[in-house]
Amino acid sequence: MSDMPPAGSNEERMQFLLDLRRRGIGSAAVLRAMDEAPREYFVPLDAVESAYADRALPIACGQTISQPYLVAYMTEQLALQPRHRVLEIGTGSGYQAAVLSRLAREVVSVERFSQLAEAARVRLETLGFDNVEIIVGDGLSGHAEGAPYDRIIVTAAAEEIPEALVEQLAEGGVMLLPLGPHGGTQRLVRLNKSQTELAREDLIAVRFVPLLTGKAKG
Ligand code: SAH
Repeated sequence: MSDMPPAGSNEERMQFLLDLRRRGIGSAAVLRAMDEAPREYFVPLDAVESAYADRALPIACGQTISQPYLVAYMTEQLALQPRHRVLEIGTGSGYQAAVLSRLAREVVSVERFSQLAEAARVRLETLGFDNVEIIVGDGLSGHAEGAPYDRIIVTAAAEEIPEALVEQLAEGGVMLLPLGPHGGTQRLVRLNKSQTELAREDLIAVRFVPLLTGKAKG
């Protein structure tokens, strides 16, 4: 391991971006956003060495920070425009929110663990991601105060499409969510909402921690 560069070195970050490109992330804007979100600040201290490895890592409260490839892929699938307002369900570390915030006007992110929400809020503020608002609550009911949203991204696995989120999605809006059984393999699903219908497209197979009901205790 001695020839491994320290986490976040130029070499390591360059390799990280090259790997994302090689795996099919073609949007220069998404790659730039990934470059501008320093993942080493979003992982636990004892995992800093692995910050640029392409895998999910455990964070507090038994949750995970998603795999970078998936963060980039989901961001790309959202086709964000600078005027967009985005709702994220499942703040976790705040990493996905940071990436989104570089491409959209505003990100509202809902987390059911107040401990994670508070840590993410401080982290994002310290790093200067100032167009992200973190809300503690049950993301299954979304955040009606800020609706409608141009884009909605769910980063925990739902067993059914949450009705409240569909309602809070703008006409012409896109919603992305992992859909399938908890603890199993889910399918990433993209929903396009028009005046008349909700068109569904199934994308890649994924594994996310479950989307749970209610605010977490403690
Ligand atoms: N996007 C995160 C990874 C999220 S892991 C990141 O970039 O780090 C999934 C997160 O969803 C966990 O933090 C979990 O607590 C949260 N979660 C699960 N069910 C939820 C719900 N109903 N409302 C809000 N957050 C929820």
